[in-house]
Parts: sequence; C-alpha cells; structure tokens
Amino acid sequence: MILFRKVQILEFEPPSVSEPTDVLVWEAGEGEHAGTIAKIGQNLYEQYPQAKVAGEGGYLSAGLVCSHTHLYSALARGMLVAIKPSKDFAQLLDHLWWRLDRAIDPEILHASALAGCADALKAGVTSLVDHHAGPECIDGSLSIIREAYEQTGVRGILCYETTDRNGLEGARAGVAENLRFAREVDAIRAFGRKPLVEVSIGAHASFTVGQETLEALADAVRQTGRGLHIHLAEDKFDAVDARHRFGKDPVERMEAAGALNERSIIGHGVWLSPSEIEIMNARDAFLAHNARSNMNNAVGYNHNLPSFRNVVLGTDGMGADMLEEFKFAVFRHRESQGPWWPGDFLKVLHRGNRLIQRYFAQDFSPDFPGFGTVREGAPADLVLWDYDPPTPLTGENIAGHMAFGMSSRSARTVMVAGSIRILDHRPLFDDVQIQSFARIQAIRLWRRMEAR
Ligand SMILES: [Zn+2]
Repeated sequence: MILFRKVQILEFEPPSVSEPTDVLVWEAGEGEHAGTIAKIGQNLYEQYPQAKVAGEGGYLSAGLVCSHTHLYSALARGMLVAIKPSKDFAQLLDHLWWRLDRAIDPEILHASALAGCADALKAGVTSLVDHHAGPECIDGSLSIIREAYEQTGVRGILCYETTDRNGLEGARAGVAENLRFAREVDAIRAFGRKPLVEVSIGAHASFTVGQETLEALADAVRQTGRGLHIHLAEDKFDAVDARHRFGKDPVERMEAAGALNERSIIGHGVWLSPSEIEIMNARDAFLAHNARSNMNNAVGYNHNLPSFRNVVLGTDGMGADMLEEFKFAVFRHRESQGPWWPGDFLKVLHRGNRLIQRYFAQDFSPDFPGFGTVREGAPADLVLWDYDPPTPLTGENIAGHMAFGMSSRSARTVMVAGSIRILDHRPLFDDVQIQSFARIQAIRLWRRMEAR
C-alpha cells in the first residue's frame, strides 16, 4: 500500500480544500481494489506501518485530464523544415501537418508518443485523449502508441483519424485500425485485466470525410459501443464545405449518420450553429475546446462555449500542460468579454474526468465515486502538489489560484492507477532516454518531411 501523509485534499468540483489528512492507496497489482483509494483519515501511518510513504504535506488532487491532443506533433517543436507560408487554415494543413503526418514511421511514432506521455505526467496530467494520424503507417499504429502509454504509465483514449484525403483505400485502413484496436482493448478485458488505454472511433474532419466513410465510421461506433472523435468546424471552411457538398451543417451530418452519442468528442466546434449545439447537447456529446491552438491557427474564437452542455479542454498537440491551457482558456475568454469566470473554466477542466469515466467506469464497481475526486474507492490517479501560496487557498478561490499562480512546476508526485510515475519531481520512467531518443527521431522526421 502507498500512503500520502498529512496532505490537504484539493477537490475541483465542487471546489474544496480539506484539513491535513492521510490518504492510503491500493497499489497496482494489490488484489481486486488495486489502483483505487483505500482509506482516508487521521493517523493511518500508525495503522499501516508497512505502507510506503509517497509524500508528506502539500495538496493532493485528482490528476488532470487533457481531452484532445495529437501526440504525433510532439516532435514538431522548433521544427527546422522549410514550410511554405500559408494563406489560410486549409493551406496550413497542406503545407505543414499533412507533410508531417505522412513522414511518420513506427520509430518516429513511438518516440513522439513517449515524449508526449512524459510531458503529460510531468505536468500532473494523468489522462491523455489522443487523435492520431499517419497515413503511411496506419495498421498497428494505435498499438505502438499504447505501448508508450504503458511504458510511461499514462491513462488514455486513442483513435486513428480516418480521412478520405489519401483515397478511399486509406479511409478504409483508418476505420479498420480503429476497429482492430477496439478488439485489442476488448481482449484485455476478456482476460480479466483492466486496460490503461481505451479507444474511440477517430475521423479527421467533416471536409475530409465523405458519405461512404462517414457511414463506415457510424457503423464502427455502433459495433464497438464507443464514441466518434472528430474535428468539426475548427475553421469556417469546414462548416461551409458541409453545407455546400452535403446540404447539412457538420453536426447534422454526423447526427443523420447516427454517429453521435454520449461518448462523442467534437474538437474545436468554433463555427457550429445554435441548432448544431442543440443536437450535441441532446446527445450529451463533448466539445473539446483548445484555446491556444485556436489562437495559434487564427481560426477564430468560440463565443458559444457557455451554450454547450459538456465543454472539456484539450491542447490539440501543443504539449499537455493543462494548467497552462486553463490559463489561456480563461484569458482568451476574458478578452472576448464572455460571461465566464475562472470558476467556470475549472468546471470545464474537471469535466474531462466525466469523459474518462464514460470509457473506464466499467472497470470499477457500480457505486465507485468516479474519476476526478479524492475519495475512498475512487481511482488512484493522483497528483501531490508542493504549491506554497502567498495568500490563503480555500474552496472559494482555487480557480483564482490556478489562473493567477499555480503552475505545473508544482506537480511533485504523480500516480496513475495506483502506480507512482513521478516521485518528488523525479520521473520513475527513463525520461533522459525518452528525450534523447525523441531528438534523434525528430531529426529523422524533419528530413523525411523535406522529401515529401
Ligand atoms: Zn485536434
């Protein structure tokens, strides 16, 4: 067993800060309750002298969730490749991202997934929802990413971004990879094990998914019981294209195909109309808001955030630091003169747990308290923060501390599913090796891009 001594529990929803207490965890591999919180109370240290102490003092919270990212872009940082200037978002995809994803091979993919997972853990992020593309290396790609998640110890949901941009053959291979990986995850459960990695049914965006492919995706959603993970109306072009080619708004298209459910993840949705938001809300689907990416790509601001039932936050491949992403989401919204305050964005950040729960609840008893909380029976996806604020930290001002002070630098000890991944700021995976392997593969990736 693992013990956190005299920690103050930070709950994000509803926000609260507890008095110092002990928290005891069933370690990974310790029987049927492994990976959950066993007990919370005073002086557990004396009752369980055999427990390993993972830290004393500080604040203990549930791990953070990144609800939309692209690990394949981990090696794009500081890229030294001649990229033609782009006049709009569609050209940016063509000149940069579609050259990058074509250049991915298994080694590059493994290196970028490892680097992205390591980044997440170091920032106190315990769950990463990935959206992967790599048209020259589709079959088996999700298993390569899963290996990186397991090697570093991150929880997550993977998918392959199905698209028609490489022909219908490529699209079929994309759907097949999502289905193959869903069978892989189901087989882990069939063996009586709890998977660390789940699967959604991935697609790139409405404008690169034709009718035949959309129907195949909807079929995969029904077959697997998972949700569709797709970019919709990130740029205005996607909304215009759907109406022009298919006579429907992007969300209407998905709905007409029967592809939307309570596990769907719609990335960006900057240009969705009120009637599309209504459809998403009726299906209880998630909108993944990526404030920094939207700013960087100049695709516009999503003024309708308060109308969505389930807004969650993602980085869209710009690292995995969710406290940084939270700050950008808050400040960009304040700049837009919208009605939300930091406390509203804290709910949004926390809601990523609801998404994780909809994929992983089946691995816990029906009455477990759910993801995103530090309570007995909850999953032991935890972060111990060594934040030492110059002003009082209380339930009423957690969001203010997160917007104006707290940063991922404070993530001291990070645990996923009852396994310590970072201890006192020291990764327990081989981070030095991961970063040096990534730098070698980054140079290979950039060279391969020059040839494409
Ligand atoms: Zn994205």
